[in-house]
Amino acid sequence: MDGRSSELARMLPQTVHQDLECVFCEGTKLVSAHPRRGYKPGPPHCPVCGHRQDESCSCGHCLAAATDARRKIEARKREIVKQRFQEPEKSNRDLRDLSLQDAVYLLSLFRHSVSEDLALAKPYGNTREPLAPTADLRTGIVNRLLALGHIAISADTKLDAFVFNDELTDCPQYYPANVDWLFLPGLTADEKKEYMAEVDCLAREGPWPDAWLGEIQEMWHAIAKGECLEYYQLMLQQRGYEAEFGEKAHAVFDELLGSFSVGQTFNLTWQAARDTSDYIVKMRLQKTHARNTFIGAIQRKADRARRTLEYKDVPSRLRLSSKRPEQCVFRCLPQSRKRVLAEGPAAFPIRPRPNLPAARPTVRTGLIK
Ligand SMILES: [Zn+2]
Ligand SMILES: [Zn+2]
Repeated sequence: MDGRSSELARMLPQTVHQDLECVFCEGTKLVSAHPRRGYKPGPPHCPVCGHRQDESCSCGHCLAAATDARRKIEARKREIVKQRFQEPEKSNRDLRDLSLQDAVYLLSLFRHSVSEDLALAKPYGNTREPLAPTADLRTGIVNRLLALGHIAISADTKLDAFVFNDELTDCPQYYPANVDWLFLPGLTADEKKEYMAEVDCLAREGPWPDAWLGEIQEMWHAIAKGECLEYYQLMLQQRGYEAEFGEKAHAVFDELLGSFSVGQTFNLTWQAARDTSDYIVKMRLQKTHARNTFIGAIQRKADRARRTLEYKDVPSRLRLSSKRPEQCVFRCLPQSRKRVLAEGPAAFPIRPRPNLPAARPTVRTGLIK
């Protein structure tokens, strides 16, 4: 007889399972290959449609059923998302309700990543520089704008941006970086344009509400510290270290910004990073231990600078050119941040004072070596 043994096996009659019927072809019994030595027959299958009695069956019937089930689950998830993230009703936005912080946050996001049609914002977009110097500050901005209703999660966001519970009754969590953020939901594009023009005009031209004047110091400090932490992170990263923003780092920069401008703080940070990394290499210190020494070094540089600074009046080119020094807060908005990193000390020469509007800034500056 010609032929190989494998071909012979295929010629043998298949085993018919009298007790198993195809679920799709009524009355058709399932079959399986003739048993032979060294060969494990697959699960019983239907000789008509090819369906296998097995979870991994990929016959036409099973593929269609799986697609159908997937569509049903997706429809259910979309329903949950639509219920949970309904677009807010049209609302009146009153400029008088905005705090300085809210205005800075709103204008920052507007300039950072609002789409041309003013429909969506991308606070987590990486297309340009980040919205805020630190992740914490960015989260704070997003949460605040969300609480105010200035942004909202779009119910048309892709479903994989949400985490659903097992029962498929709710989505208790979402990935902020993956959801689509509606900008000023409830307003038409023209209304958004008008509202943002009003906020921008109020911020630039004033008159500022009294409450805003009281907020300048705190706002400036929050942004300035964010910038300093970011610069600190950059200095460490350039030297192969990961920066940690622990309590100590916050305390040191809080304290430094009480005496120094952002530019001076950058300078002290750079000096400390340079000298500390040099010291670590010379002394052959363990990298993991050495990492904690940077922040202390910044503090020591600051103490020394305070003792040795030659206090001088601010050079005229570094004075705020505007009669309205509170605008320095708005100079901290994202689009100016590259300039700050590029220009360093010259970009932020002056700390705002609580009595800003009237007083001529008298800030101690001097060369720090
Ligand atoms: Zn069948
Ligand atoms: Zn099947």
